[in-house]
Parts: sequence; C-alpha cells; structure tokens
Amino acid sequence: MSVTRELFDMPPEIAALPRDHRGYPVPKFATWDEATGKWDFVLASQEFMHKAVKERLCWLCGCKMGKRLWFVTGPMCTITGASAEPPCHRGCAIFAVKNCPFMVRPMAKRVDLSKTRNHRDHMEPGGNMITHNPGVMAIYETPDFRVHLDPQGKPVFIMGNPKDITWWREGRPATGDEVFDAIEKGLPKLWEMATGEGPIAVYDMQQLIDTYTNKVLPRFLPKKITSQGRG
Ligand SMILES: [Zn+2]
Repeated sequence: MSVTRELFDMPPEIAALPRDHRGYPVPKFATWDEATGKWDFVLASQEFMHKAVKERLCWLCGCKMGKRLWFVTGPMCTITGASAEPPCHRGCAIFAVKNCPFMVRPMAKRVDLSKTRNHRDHMEPGGNMITHNPGVMAIYETPDFRVHLDPQGKPVFIMGNPKDITWWREGRPATGDEVFDAIEKGLPKLWEMATGEGPIAVYDMQQLIDTYTNKVLPRFLPKKITSQGRG
C-alpha cells in the first residue's frame, strides 16, 4: 500500500529505510508488533536505544552521526532539558516534524502505552513524559548530552545547552504565538510534577522556568515576532 499523503524533504538515509503498511519509512527505533503484524512507531526498541547511544547512531535512520546533535522534543523538554529519546541528524529531525503523523496532527492522541504490553523488545519512555500532544514540536540542537536513569531504571537523555531551537507545528515552522501557547499549556504539568516531589523541587523548577523565560526562550523564538523583517 502506498502512503496517502506526500512525504516532504526525505533525506537519503531515511529513503533507504524499509516502509510500513502505509508507506511510511520505518524508523530504526520502531518495534514489530506481533499481535497486529505491523510496525509500531510509539514503543521504542530498547536494544536499538543502547546501540544508538553507544555507537553514536541517529535515532531515526540508524546511520553514524557527526559532532552536531539534534533532539526532536516537546516544548516542556526544552525547559527541563530532558528528552526521552536520543538525538538524530538535522535532516532526519526535520523530516520527522514535517511528516510524522503524530507530530503533524496536533489533535492526534498518543497511544496509551499501558495498554500495549505485548512487545518483546520495547520500553516506555523514561522520566516524566508529558503525554498530551503539545501541538508544537521543537528541534533542539546541542553539542552534547548525558544519560541519566530515572527511578524505574529507564534512560533519560539530559541535553546540553541549546545551540539552536527551531519550532514546528503541523509540518511547518510554528509562529511565536503558537510557541508561547504550547509552553503555557504545558507549564501546569511541570508545576504538578515539581509539587509532587516537594518544596526543593518547586524551588528548582521556579529557577529553571525563570532562566528559561528570561534567557533561553528569547534567543530561540521564531524570528517572525522578535525581529520584523529578518524572519
Ligand atoms: Zn539520521
């Protein structure tokens, strides 16, 4: 079966991947769901995650990466600096935000991971993943990252300082208003998580959000609203 919608800006590494039943390229991290006989793009392969980190491979195409790293994350991850998935190439990240069905349709619901436990090799994302669809996605460039294990022993990828952040919605660059809106919608969830961890976590979260809103976000907002004529 061929894909019903056009795929945009496909890098050669992605074009070389096998296709699923809909015609979408199957990312390297995908797992095979024996129950449905289809590829699953939501549950990530634990085996490939280890390999990707150890051998510095792109999370999406599985090819070797250079010095520069790009994470495809939700807006809240740009605040916490923590991603549930390892980095990828720039071209592969852009392909994902332009074509991934979950990322281009903000109304799409994430699959409830607790209801899909029939996979042999998969893992649920580490850390406190915010499961609502944020509508806006970020591509976060950083020169480094480190792996941290959450209390359940699942890896969380702590991203280095951002070198660049670009924002995407429905397969196109997001506007500044859309970025603000997505961040505003996600903040209560961050506060809820911090409150659950106690007063020190609340204090740390306040510091984190202050630094982010005053120093980080203004540098990386879509140029359209920060400087007329340049965007
Ligand atoms: Zn790649």
